[in-house]
Amino acid sequence: MRAEIIAVGTELLLGQIVNTNAQYLSQGLAELGIDVYYQTVVGDNLTRLRQAIETARGRADLLVFTGGLGPTQDDLTRDALAADLGLAIGLHEPSLRKIEQLFAGRSVELIESNRKQAMLIDGAHPLRNDTGLAVGNALSAGGKHYLLLPGPPREMKPMFDNDGSDWLRKLLGDAAALRSVMLKFAGIGESALEELLIDLIREQSDPTIAPYAKEGEVCIRVSTKAGSAEEAARRMEPTLQAIRSRTERYLYAEEDIPLEAAVIRLLTSKRQTVTLAESCTGGMIAASLTSVPGSADAFLGGVVSYSNGVKHKQLGVPTELLEGPGAPGAVSEETAAAMADGMRAAADSDYALSVTGVAGPAGVEGKPVGLVYVGLAERGKPAKVEKLQLAGDREGIRIRATKRALYLLWR
Ligand code: ATP
Ligand code: MG
Repeated sequence: MRAEIIAVGTELLLGQIVNTNAQYLSQGLAELGIDVYYQTVVGDNLTRLRQAIETARGRADLLVFTGGLGPTQDDLTRDALAADLGLAIGLHEPSLRKIEQLFAGRSVELIESNRKQAMLIDGAHPLRNDTGLAVGNALSAGGKHYLLLPGPPREMKPMFDNDGSDWLRKLLGDAAALRSVMLKFAGIGESALEELLIDLIREQSDPTIAPYAKEGEVCIRVSTKAGSAEEAARRMEPTLQAIRSRTERYLYAEEDIPLEAAVIRLLTSKRQTVTLAESCTGGMIAASLTSVPGSADAFLGGVVSYSNGVKHKQLGVPTELLEGPGAPGAVSEETAAAMADGMRAAADSDYALSVTGVAGPAGVEGKPVGLVYVGLAERGKPAKVEKLQLAGDREGIRIRATKRALYLLWR
């Protein structure tokens, strides 16, 4: 099946927003085994929108729209497609009732234009919108298929991932559906990971093994085409087992979650807690842990001990370690250990992580940019410290130090 994505919105053409929806949809469609041949962007203009539809129909079997399902005058996608297909538009009662209920609980009144968001093209299948008002439309007509999704990413993504994908899978016939498992790794670089699996990657046929770089993370996607989730799981198992046995120390999840989520999950399952003593990461580890819903069960808090004064007064790092002739200094193995031990004891947590290093651009204490010590204290044991020499600019060093600290805790 050949697809074309049509992103609707003048703000896209003006460069006011980036077309992230097209990227998301292209990835999602590829995962379903659908080939995207074109991406189009068109403004909120009925004539040009209809031209775009006509062009797309001439070269694709599936047209996926995003944007223009809202209540305002410039939201035209539904109208344009209905006019083009010669179909009427009708009210979808359950969606209208949902909108009415939502407004009933608010201080704003429902106006006529909001009813538009409950409209379906005749014969279209409704797609649930759990994060907004506009109902999605999925429609097959004249041998072509149409998916109408809202513009706001927080509405578009769940709609596509749930009802939208289900509808597409049915369309494809289950047999053709590509199903995959995402494996997530930490503590290892992309090329080192590939090296570990090189023979598997070279000899692959079905399932396929695809290394995947995503926002600085190392992932591998294992995929197969199968009629059911069970059949897919059965077919993928030997490959997954082979990968697991070689990458045990690095494989932190078999689903697409970030490392911090895996850390929180692990600690919560063991009923354990962690605290933080952060210097050069300045709270970045705390921010990533608290981005995980439910992190309060495992993450107690921490200290951003940027100055020697706070390292000493809040964490009890001895002054002799920090300053004076012959002292190892703030960026040292001894200080990282003392920070972690001090934090753990003060908060009585099961673990404490510490980070102290030189994020740059200038060196500190005569030490080079990128030198970072990560400490891990555990109840009843002396703190362990890892010395790192990280590459990159200030931000890159801070991000890598954060990832490495989380990895030490996970491992
Ligand atoms: P609304 O009910 O909010 O009007 P809509 O379905 O009519 O939703 P648009 O009016 O086209 O959608 O866009 C609403 C907002 O969604 C835009 O201002 C923009 O922030 C975001 N958006 C729209 N299209 C895209 C896109 N292709 N990529 C990323 N964001 C988008
Ligand atoms: Mg709109």
